[in-house]
Amino acid sequence: MIIALAALIVIGALFLTLRISDKSLPPAESETPIKPLEEAKVRIYEALRDLQFEYRVGKLSDADYQASKQALQQELARVLQQMDAAGPAPKAVKAKAEVAKPEAPKPEPVEAKSYVCPHCEASFKDPLKFCGECGKPMEAQA
Ligand SMILES: [Zn+2]
Repeated sequence: MIIALAALIVIGALFLTLRISDKSLPPAESETPIKPLEEAKVRIYEALRDLQFEYRVGKLSDADYQASKQALQQELARVLQQMDAAGPAPKAVKAKAEVAKPEAPKPEPVEAKSYVCPHCEASFKDPLKFCGECGKPMEAQA
């Protein structure tokens, strides 16, 4: 009976939280404590874009543009610093993405087969007597 009651309470609580997070749109808020900073960053980027646009259109004087831009960039630097301090979570994700990219250089097995000039390290698909780059004999290579 107690177990059933506990289960009921748990289900009720779950239901409540689900409903609450359904209503308030940002349900993933807790997973990123730096979300407000992200938003601030985006806002600053947008402001910078707007500023650039207005400057290009001629709405802003050179001095006004420079001053506003500098202020925004300072703000941006501050936000980025805070994001850095807030935790490595987004950095780790970014690092992963960056690591995933260099998968592309697959021509490595091809390179292993190619013939590399011992003088200038130019590589060729076919065996050559003389390097096509520097013209020196390529016999030194295995
Ligand atoms: Zn060469």
